[in-house]
Amino acid sequence: ASGYPLLRDPHYNKGLAFSEKERDAHFLRGLLPPVALSQELQERNERLFYKLLIDNVEELLPVVYTPTVGEACQKGKILEVLKNWPQKKIQVIVVTDGERILGLGDLGCQGMGIPVGKLSLYTALGGIRPSACLPVTIDVGTNNEQLLNDEFYIGLRRRRATGQEYAELLDEFMSAVKQNYGEKVLVQFEDFANHNAFDLLAKYGSTHLVFNDDIQGTASVVLAGLMSALNLVGGTLADQSFLFLGAGEAGTGIAELIALEMSKQTGAPLEEARKKIWLVDSKGLIVRSRMGSLQHFKMPWAHEHEPVENLLDAVKAIRPTILIGSSGAGRTFTKEVVEAMASYNEKPVILALSNPTSQSECTADEAYKWSEGRAIFASGSPFGPVEYNGKVYVSGQANNAYIFPGLGLGLIISGAIRVHDDMLLAASEALAAEVSQENLDKGLIYPPFSNIRKISAQIAARVAAKAYELGLATRLPPPENLVEYAESCMSIYFVHFSSQADNRIRCLNVTCR
Ligand code: NAP
Ligand code: MN
Repeated sequence: ASGYPLLRDPHYNKGLAFSEKERDAHFLRGLLPPVALSQELQERNERLFYKLLIDNVEELLPVVYTPTVGEACQKGKILEVLKNWPQKKIQVIVVTDGERILGLGDLGCQGMGIPVGKLSLYTALGGIRPSACLPVTIDVGTNNEQLLNDEFYIGLRRRRATGQEYAELLDEFMSAVKQNYGEKVLVQFEDFANHNAFDLLAKYGSTHLVFNDDIQGTASVVLAGLMSALNLVGGTLADQSFLFLGAGEAGTGIAELIALEMSKQTGAPLEEARKKIWLVDSKGLIVRSRMGSLQHFKMPWAHEHEPVENLLDAVKAIRPTILIGSSGAGRTFTKEVVEAMASYNEKPVILALSNPTSQSECTADEAYKWSEGRAIFASGSPFGPVEYNGKVYVSGQANNAYIFPGLGLGLIISGAIRVHDDMLLAASEALAAEVSQENLDKGLIYPPFSNIRKISAQIAARVAAKAYELGLATRLPPPENLVEYAESCMSIYFVHFSSQADNRIRCLNVTCR
């Protein structure tokens, strides 16, 4: 046996002990993480070797033995690596470089759990066949000192490639993907640091079918929540004013989609719509006078205003109707901040998006208590129902899993070749339409998760319809009933998560019913 089957053969598989030469000879490139453990360790100290494996089996298994493609900086070899993968018909690739994994930061090649986890949601919630999913980690090194000094780290032991070296490797990857799987393969960028994320999306958005969940998926799910919140607040999107704490992938991504929807609704130019949206980063309110030192994705938000140093002062200066936390810093929506929001607004909309729960800007309990039960609240991490003054409030979770599986399904069933912003807006509308009056009565601006496969089909249908409308769909002629068609395309799989208290996905089993 060679290639993938060899790794599955208990008699001949040597795992990380395959030498460089053997990896070439047996078509194993990319199927194993880059480190070649010398078998000397095994020979010198057999007990230590097995103890290490057994003690760390939970950590090592998903990385080493689940279908993983670890692409160590192998310039010129990426196409070869892709050809080593046993499945030839790939519909969705989730790719990371491991630099900004969840709120955990740079995990190097150990970020692999994220693409694997996201793809299992494509299967469980969007009905995409597991065999059509390919998780990829591009290992360009790590700047995580702890990993660099860890003698058992299985990734490349070097600092991250940057600049031209990085750009060329990513470019080779994107070309190889298109060459090997065609124009209709969806590439989802996941958990890249923001200095690369925006550039990659801009660079490949017009030549490949690409989507960044941290930027676009978040934007779409949050916009959906806002659309349904307007049913409680009254007025249109353009009647609102917005203040963000956090101006990174999530913050500026959401801001841009809101501005786009506003300008579509009112006919005003995008630049005008943006003026209703303000962002605060670690240096205070983003204003014109900071223009010279701003990262480019913040520049559209540098409006004319005197400098403001902190969030509370920004709330007082801007008097927003909607406050959105997307900084990753917890406990930043203080009592004073929430009280100020409640003093300017009958129904202040407060979204605390930072994850995990410990980093939430405030709790649901605090939001309702400090606003005397008037806040419309949703969060990134879930909170249970809250009782305040005899009334029970249920807050929604702005979870990206509402959007990306349905969006991906819509792209696939229509044979779309590009992602267009209008498809994100269509996905938001479809999700908002799933929120019932009964949900709204409890303060809930997202639908219950239990219906998620139905919701995914609705989103897929709207996204596909948009793809046909924009002339970006290649599956012709269009099916007559897109919702029915989407449902018929969803295969039935269940995913069992064995996740642990720390919320990290450790181990996944996909089974067919
Ligand atoms: P990111 O690109 O690194 O951006 C973080 C932003 O927050 C930066 O603008 C940073 O300021 C700012 N910031 C950090 N600490 C701050 C502080 N103490 N005060 C003010 N601003 C501060 O990260 P991201 O991808 O946008 O993610 C941010 C957070 O959103 C994470 O907690 C993530 O879990 C959460 N998130 C939630 C959802 C969801 O609910 N569905 C989706 C995506 C992300 P500088 O630019 O000045 O450094
Ligand atoms: Mn992510």
